[in-house]
Amino acid sequence: MADEQSQLAIVVDPGGDFEKIRELLDEHGLTVSAIVHTHTHIDHVGATAPLQEHTGAEAHIHEADRFLYDMLPVQSALLGVPLPRKCGVLGTLNDGFSLHAGSIELGVLHTPGHTPGSVSFYTEGPDGRFVFTGDTLFQRGIGRTDLWGGDSSAIGRSLKERLMTLDDETLVIPGHGPTTSIGDERQLNPFLRRLR
Ligand SMILES: [Zn+2]
Ligand SMILES: [Zn+2]
Repeated sequence: MADEQSQLAIVVDPGGDFEKIRELLDEHGLTVSAIVHTHTHIDHVGATAPLQEHTGAEAHIHEADRFLYDMLPVQSALLGVPLPRKCGVLGTLNDGFSLHAGSIELGVLHTPGHTPGSVSFYTEGPDGRFVFTGDTLFQRGIGRTDLWGGDSSAIGRSLKERLMTLDDETLVIPGHGPTTSIGDERQLNPFLRRLR
């Protein structure tokens, strides 16, 4: 996400094609101030190293996911995703941290379960409230917990105590699939009904 005035951006989960991300940044004249990750599955860190090298911005993961970054070759083999280059330095994201880009303040919520170091990023401003939920919460779905370090009771607690406590109007931007809102998911997500 980007601050129009300062043209500073924070990139969340550069998983895909680095060239596409670079084109988008160039098109909008954006300078990347930080690269952050909702978690460290291979499909969320694919372009981290080239983007980090290109922008010089610091990249961050939650410490509890570092083991996943160290086992990218295993993830690549098992999930059938090409092995990305590794990033030199990865800083640490902690619960309660804030990242800044111009007037944007992006807060870190530790929401473990899909992976031990899964986090969500929350921000509010004149355009509304937004939460980037990675693979923790999707439109009408939640993240799988059968991969390395996944924990179904932890994801239940994260959803109930960290995400469902946000305002109904908060726009949810998941790691995959369409956007939704906290209110819609509270009402319509079958997995969340089960948690009550
Ligand atoms: Zn994932
Ligand atoms: Zn994913």
